[in-house]
Amino acid sequence: SSSSKLSEDEERKLSTDMRELYDRLLPTADVENKKEKLVRKLEKLFNDEWPGHDIQVHMFGSTGNLLCTDTSDVDVCITTDWRKLEAVCKIADLLARNGMKEVICVSTAKVPIVKILDPELNIACDMNVNNTLALENTRMIKTYVQIDPRVRPLAMIIKHWTRRRIVNDAAFGGTLSSYTWICMIINFLQSRSPPVLPALHQRPHLKLPRKDERESEFADDLDALRGFGDKNKETLGELLFGFFKFYGHDFDYDNLVVSVRSGKQISKVEKKWHLGNNNMLCVEEPFNTTRNLGNTADETSFRGLHMELRRAFDLVSAAKLDECCEQYEFPK
Ligand code: ATP
Ligand code: MG
Repeated sequence: SSSSKLSEDEERKLSTDMRELYDRLLPTADVENKKEKLVRKLEKLFNDEWPGHDIQVHMFGSTGNLLCTDTSDVDVCITTDWRKLEAVCKIADLLARNGMKEVICVSTAKVPIVKILDPELNIACDMNVNNTLALENTRMIKTYVQIDPRVRPLAMIIKHWTRRRIVNDAAFGGTLSSYTWICMIINFLQSRSPPVLPALHQRPHLKLPRKDERESEFADDLDALRGFGDKNKETLGELLFGFFKFYGHDFDYDNLVVSVRSGKQISKVEKKWHLGNNNMLCVEEPFNTTRNLGNTADETSFRGLHMELRRAFDLVSAAKLDECCEQYEFPK
């Protein structure tokens, strides 16, 4: 059933249906404003309670990378030179005393976080202190999304598919985080010929001068980067079809690593990632290249993921987008 090309009619139907779905997924101004409000509210609360520590609250994750929907939660990074706050439990106390609900403090995690629900704005929020790597990789994703107009609709639709098929729960489901999926989407787009996206870490001459003393690790000069993908004429439908073909049928999982940093696939052996556990799917974190983002999936869930990718390929090949994104029901 894996026909290797879409017919003209199917391509047209698929692209049209994708546009429609994309319009429904786009966040509304009302929810965007509420998120902004929450951030300002938190910032005020922290600085009133602990003055003199220059506490700033930044949004990251999907709220900062142009890939959120109205139902996405808000990821927040608190920056301060007051290192004591990194233990985060003080924050949980303060927020619980100030009307936040479902306050959970996960202080033992590698990056300690506090989870809250703001009942007034009806927004869920995860926060960490001083995990600035996440701010930079969010800025990288946002840069990739802005380079070519096809990236945002394609990525939002694939994220929607991962939620419906329950393959985006790294913590509890043993599958992959949204961040891992996004890296896979970017690497797929870097691998088209001609490519839709460049490898930003390989283009050091396109960095903008910065106000802070820290230098960007990746090219971020959007004015020079926009239009990079223009030679590639693939439509949204063709790219979605190509994505599921790439990861459902063509990718050599036994030997290769998804590497956004290099803009191609590199060898598992070279990275010594052929040894060890949970290494069927290897996705290199672009900033911390020793980290395999795919290791949240064990052998069994990798097989499940791969099956879902092939199922999606079959349905997209027949231009059945609705069915492709149908809610997964666990067997009784
Ligand atoms: P969603 O809309 O599903 O919440 P998201 O874009 O917020 O998607 P998450 O997987 O929730 O993606 O991750 C939020 C952010 O946390 C990412 O944008 C990234 O900055 C950071 N992040 C997540 N996982 C990792 C990781 N393993 N290593 C480094 N940074 C990560
Ligand atoms: Mg998030």
